[in-house]
Amino acid sequence: MEQLVIGLFLVLFTLEFIVESVLNELNLGYVRARRPAGNIPDFVAAKMTAREYDKSIQYTLAKGNFQRYSEVYGRVVMLVVLFGGLLPFCDRVASSLAGAPPSLPYANGIIFCFGVGLIVSLAGLPVDLYATFGLEARFGFNKTTWHLYLSDKLKGILLGVIVGAPFLMVVFWLMDNPGPYWWLWALLFISGFQFVMIIAYPVFIAPWFNKFEPLKDGEFRDRILALAEKVGFKTRGIFSMDGSKRSGHSNAYFTGIGKAKRIVLFDTLLEQMTIEQGLAVLAHEMGHSKMKHIRRMLVVQLVFLLIGLYLLSLLLGYRPLYTAFGLNSSSHAALVLFSLISGPATFYLTPLMNRLSRKHEYEADCFAALTLGDGKAMEEALINLTVKNLSNLTPHPWYSAYHYSHPTTAERIHALRGL
Ligand SMILES: [Zn+2]
Repeated sequence: MEQLVIGLFLVLFTLEFIVESVLNELNLGYVRARRPAGNIPDFVAAKMTAREYDKSIQYTLAKGNFQRYSEVYGRVVMLVVLFGGLLPFCDRVASSLAGAPPSLPYANGIIFCFGVGLIVSLAGLPVDLYATFGLEARFGFNKTTWHLYLSDKLKGILLGVIVGAPFLMVVFWLMDNPGPYWWLWALLFISGFQFVMIIAYPVFIAPWFNKFEPLKDGEFRDRILALAEKVGFKTRGIFSMDGSKRSGHSNAYFTGIGKAKRIVLFDTLLEQMTIEQGLAVLAHEMGHSKMKHIRRMLVVQLVFLLIGLYLLSLLLGYRPLYTAFGLNSSSHAALVLFSLISGPATFYLTPLMNRLSRKHEYEADCFAALTLGDGKAMEEALINLTVKNLSNLTPHPWYSAYHYSHPTTAERIHALRGL
């Protein structure tokens, strides 16, 4: 039976690798063919120099080329973790550490999870470092210093332990005291936990990484408030965030729920956009909120979580799952194995989720255009973001259908003009 588990995993794992690689190669070929300057798409031709266009192509090619190597590297790491004896080693170390005083409940499982997590993150460090200080820096996006990078990582680990340890303790307790429906209790607990995190994140966690300042009084602020009033969007404050200390990429988002929502604008966005364009971006975001997109996505995720937990409950007692990877059956082994090996199966949900997400993006664009009277400002904001972020103007249709959570800029502008 172990052979069956390993065989099935390897087949799915290889298939995922093939699909990823084929999509990446298709995309690279497609973009390379459009490199000569005459291929600038019409909708940006007036807003982009030939040099900027070429730079956006180079950026896309560099990322795709990097993807080739990081994909292979990531796969090798995964195989070493799963089959190189690291998991049983971690389990042995965890149980001997957990035996030492003060012996806390589920210390064994918690140490095991963190141990495996640490190994996987350390192995991923070279990729992350090159992406940040090599690739992003080469194209002028990276603003992170070594100091900031290191302190971000340490804070991340600390946060993972503070939040993760009690979380895991409850999950293990639920798994070990099963009634037949422990997975339903786990679902309740995890959704409650997510709810608390949504509230806690903007107040306690985000300020630890970034500085948030209320947006200064002025025309922009007044017009955002007027817009929020007009569409009936309740907010508790508009903030600007020092995103520029890490990256030149720009963004805007909302955090929190209900009336306690905060609008957060990256300082990079404030610098790069006109007031009209910034308002269009916010109208788009308010559209997501008014049309309940965020809530719908959360529900979809909960359904997937429910299915995942149910499958986990079925597999919990299936011994060959553990022995195939050199482990004894335990709830922590089940949890870690499940999260490590489920990827190749859930991979095929990516395009479905992205499809739903793209539908929401079209709707939010439409909402922004209707709210502001026409689609002009939204269109300009999109072009501005695309040019500044050197986004891929012409991804291969299969690639974008699979991987893009947002329609391409061309598609969005086409839809806006069709309104
Ligand atoms: Zn959106």
